[in-house]
Amino acid sequence: SDIGSQKERVVTEEEWLQKWEMGNIGFHKEQGHPLLQKYLDVLLNGRSGLRIFFPLCGKAVEMKWLADMGHSVVGVEVSEQAVKEFFSEHSLPYCEEPVPEIPGAKMFQSTSGNISLYCCSIYDLSSSIVGKFDGVWDRGALVAVNPCDRQRYASLMINLVEKNSSYLLVTVSYDPNKHKGPPFYVPESEIQSLFG
Ligand code: SAH
Repeated sequence: SDIGSQKERVVTEEEWLQKWEMGNIGFHKEQGHPLLQKYLDVLLNGRSGLRIFFPLCGKAVEMKWLADMGHSVVGVEVSEQAVKEFFSEHSLPYCEEPVPEIPGAKMFQSTSGNISLYCCSIYDLSSSIVGKFDGVWDRGALVAVNPCDRQRYASLMINLVEKNSSYLLVTVSYDPNKHKGPPFYVPESEIQSLFG
């Protein structure tokens, strides 16, 4: 499969911040994603008290679901507006602190301690900062990453997961010559070569 002209496309962090400012966030699902409900058992695999990672999290409501089930949720998002909207829309009190290892980054944590959202670029993270995860919910993340950054993104994600982890990935399938993305079309063959 050919991804056509999407290969060269770059969406800058500034453009993402603008989307949030303009309320141009059609990707946000108020009701949560039906595929997480459908495959929840695959993610949890009978385990409780997991550490679950949300790359490029936006204000995904699934973070609240999983935290309410007793898991510990970590997300990363460049838009501070998105992070603050997440906490305010769920009426969750939070505190805010700098991340010593990442200049300019902030970590927003629910007062109850089970939801921590890093406001920085995902490429600033490493397992020495955020630890490793038992589960990943990747929706609007791999498909939102610039095509030229996919390899770097996948290598980082592989580094952030424990050996016995579950990784749920949502992609979209369409003719990449008819829409410029994001979401970008990521062919199955590329997912195989990125994640093995
Ligand atoms: N996963 C969320 C949001 C999808 S849209 C959901 O399902 O609703 C992609 C999000 O990634 C946007 O909120 C954008 O601001 C954020 N983003 C884009 N590039 C990023 C980067 N390099 N690091 C962290 N967040 C990023």
